Order: sequence, then C-alpha cells, then structure tokens
Amino acid sequence: MRNLLVTLVAISVLVLGPAVEPAVAQNARALLQAADNAVGASKVNSIVYTGTGRISYLGQNFTTTDDLPRVDMKTWSQTIDYGNKAAKEEMVRVQGNNPPRGGGAGFPITGEQRSTTLVSGNYAWQLNAQGQPQAQNDQAEARQFMIWVTPHGFIKAALADPNAAVTDREFVGGGRTLRVVGFTTMGKYRATGEFNAQNMLERVVTWIPNPVMGDMQVEIRYTDWRDVGNGIKAPFHIHMHQGDHPLVRGMNYMDAQASDVKANVEIASLTVPDAVRNAAAPRVNIQTTKLADGVWLIAGGSHNSVAVEFKDFATIIETPLDDARSNAVIAETKRLIPGKQIRYVVNTHHHWDHSGGLRAAYAEGATIVTNELNKNFYERVVLVPQPRTLSPDRLSQFPFATTGPGPGKLETYRDRYAISDGDQSVISYHVEGFNHAGDMAIVYLPKSKVLISADMGPPAAGTPVENVSLSSVSLYNNIKRLKLDVSQHVPIHGNPSSNADFERTVGPAAARARPAGPQAN
Ligand SMILES: [Zn+2]
Repeated sequence: MRNLLVTLVAISVLVLGPAVEPAVAQNARALLQAADNAVGASKVNSIVYTGTGRISYLGQNFTTTDDLPRVDMKTWSQTIDYGNKAAKEEMVRVQGNNPPRGGGAGFPITGEQRSTTLVSGNYAWQLNAQGQPQAQNDQAEARQFMIWVTPHGFIKAALADPNAAVTDREFVGGGRTLRVVGFTTMGKYRATGEFNAQNMLERVVTWIPNPVMGDMQVEIRYTDWRDVGNGIKAPFHIHMHQGDHPLVRGMNYMDAQASDVKANVEIASLTVPDAVRNAAAPRVNIQTTKLADGVWLIAGGSHNSVAVEFKDFATIIETPLDDARSNAVIAETKRLIPGKQIRYVVNTHHHWDHSGGLRAAYAEGATIVTNELNKNFYERVVLVPQPRTLSPDRLSQFPFATTGPGPGKLETYRDRYAISDGDQSVISYHVEGFNHAGDMAIVYLPKSKVLISADMGPPAAGTPVENVSLSSVSLYNNIKRLKLDVSQHVPIHGNPSSNADFERTVGPAAARARPAGPQAN
C-alpha cells in the first residue's frame, strides 16, 4: 500500500510537472509577459521622471467632504532603482492659483518649499531644509511597496508572484473589456492593475495602511505612454488618488506631467546615510505636567493631549496620531486619574494627525465629542468595525457589535458643547473665520482659565508683529468674540504659554490685520 502511494505521488508529479498552476495564474503570466514586451518593464533597472504638476496634503482637507488641499509642483522628479528597492522623490511646492485653505502648510504658502523623500530597502528618510537626512524608517515598508505599483514595478512584482491572477472586467459605458491582474507582494500588500487591449497598464488600485482610513485605497492612472528608447515605454502623465471612499468622495492626491523620462541612468545619492542606518526606532514618549488641579498636559511627542478629572469620570482633549500614541495617552490618563472611566474624548478637528487616535478611545468606550461637520465621516468611515488587514488596531481587533449595545457614542455640536459636573467644565467652541479647518474647535476650561488650541500658534513670546501668523490672529479674534477669560494657552503642538505674552505678541498683529479686510476662508 505504501509503495502504491509513493508511485501515485510520483506519477502525479510526472503528469502535472512542477508548474502546477491554475489556469488563471497561467493567463496572468501570459498577459504580464505581453505587458512586459509592450513596455520593456524587465529591461528597466532604474528610471528617472522629471516634470511638473500638483500635490496635495493627505488628510488635511478644510472639511471631511472637501477635496484635499493642493499646491503646484514647480518641479517634480522621481527616481526609482528597482534592483536596490530604492526611490527618491523631489519636489518644489508653490501656492499657485490653488485655494489657500486646509492644513498641512500655512496657506497661502509663501515662496518655494522643497521636499526630498527617500527609501532604500528597510530605510526611509527625508532631507530637511539644510539638506540633512532625517530618519523615517517606520515609513520604509509603505514607501518600498509604492515602488511595486509604479508602471514598470507593477509588472516586475506581478511576474514575481506565482499566485498572480487575472480576471476580465467589462466597463459598462466605456464599451470595452479590460483585464485586471491582482498580485500580492512583501507578504501582505495586494495590488490590482487594469490592462487594455494593447497590454498597457492603465490603472493600479491598491491599499496602504493608515490610522484613520484603515486599509486606505490608492488609485494611480497611467496615461500618455511614450517611447523612451531601447524598447522601453513610460507613461508621461500620472494621476493619483489617496483615501477615496464611497461615503466621502474622490481625493485628488497628485497629478504629474513628465517632460522627460530616462531609463537606466546612473543612480546617485541613494546611499543610506549613517544617521538613518543607525537611527533608533521611534517610540511613544509620554511626559506629563500638571497644569492645574485635576488638569494635566500629556506631552512628549509631536502632539499633546490634556487629561481632565471630573467628580465621577475623566476626559481627554485630543487623542492624536495613531493607535500606539492614543493607547499610551489613555494608559497615562488612567494612571493620573485612577478608578474613573474615560467618558469623553474631545477632538479639536478632523485632520488625520489630530484624529488618528480616536479609534483607540472608541475601543476604550469613550464618547467622541466633535463638530457636527464630522458626524458622517466619523460614524460611517473612521469608527466602523470592519477589519483592518494591513495594520490591525485595537478597535479592529476588539470590535463593537454593530447591533449594540454601544458604541455609536458620538456627540456633535455646531457652536458649543459643554461637559460639566458643576465644578469642573470642558467647553468646546467652534472657531470662526479660520482657513485651516472648517470644523476647528478651541477648548476652554473655565475653572483653570486654560485654553487649548490646535494649529493656531500661539507664537513664541516676542515674535515680531510681521511674523505673527493669520492663524494666531484668528485665535485672538475668536477669544475676543467669545469673551473668554484666559490665563494660560495650551497648544496641541508645543509648550504652554501665558495669555499676557499672547496679548503682547498677537494683539498688535490683530489690530493691524483688521483693516486689511476679512480673512481668506
Ligand atoms: Zn490641522
């Protein structure tokens, strides 16, 4: 019997051969080889695109239903070295004729902003204004993956996946059928590409992890394919969306028109700098300062939170960035205010660096307090219990049942929302006339006269009047409008400062700004 089994196994290996591929995999391979022949993907070791276009600030739209805020790329170049899994993207941003509102930069941006981002294998970095490298190794994986959805990278990576598969898809109205290839790379990233009758890659749809959107959709359209020599073709027009969602809208992220594409040129300056190679992995750092009785600043990173003790519960103002930061802020709040439930998390505005920790607070059981403009996006996109496959978080691993009880605990307001036990109070006020975010709130604690603000300064004491930003003038005007009696400013970015300094620094700028007419909004 044993011999028979061995014989059967041997025969099946002989008959089927080592390449036991399902038909779809064979069809995918044939299509990918035709696509490779059409554009010469496997001949491309490196490639440099240069051109101009537009670029947006992800997660920084004016409201959740607006398109992303964008600026012009006066120059743009992308260098890809496929063999070394390395890439460099350089751009010079200028305001151009784009609407000066939203976050990500102080709009309108003045002059030129240069940015250079790089990846090489498991290392990622950017160059600062002085041209020095700053490690961003936690972004290396996603940046490396983006190499495999570039026009030639897609074909290379799909050919490398033995399980790549293809399906036909009719685009109704377009009157044609495209073939869609799907593959997986780097163990977990899935990408699909649509090929036309000429075997040209027209579009890629994929997902990258994001604290707010989860498995966030990325769509890239490649058009205007041209010959660049040696049997290689490249698309001269690249249009990218990031963060599209059927319940929100299409989010235009980048549009680049190449003026020149060169394949297989010498690739310089992609050596990993020692400072990047030796950089310590980023970790969540918590530094707590008592601001007043029952009020603590939780700092230590790029974004602050404030914990407030009430008679029967605790409240946190702002759970920023991501799951890791938010869970650390929650743990610190429990240490500071033991034995009391974190009943509320007050959110200043929807920008992703400020809302990326809301899901952890939700998983904790907290009620999210935010402007009514965010209700649909938070309830139906951000806080939903769907799995997050690329970077599972606390809420996706411990979801609420959609049938209840809870969560659905979102409190929204238009102008003002107060949490109070008769002694301690936390009051959110909608900020008017601010071009950064239509849903922006400042959060006032009447007992301690603390005012918490995000992305509005305050400027350092003694800042010359001409250097005071319109954001800080807007903060000043809203304090006056609401007649708030403030003694201490606690910004989400940076250190607390006194209102006396604020009056001295921003007061003259506000007086000067007034005759200039209404602010851009
Ligand atoms: Zn913001």
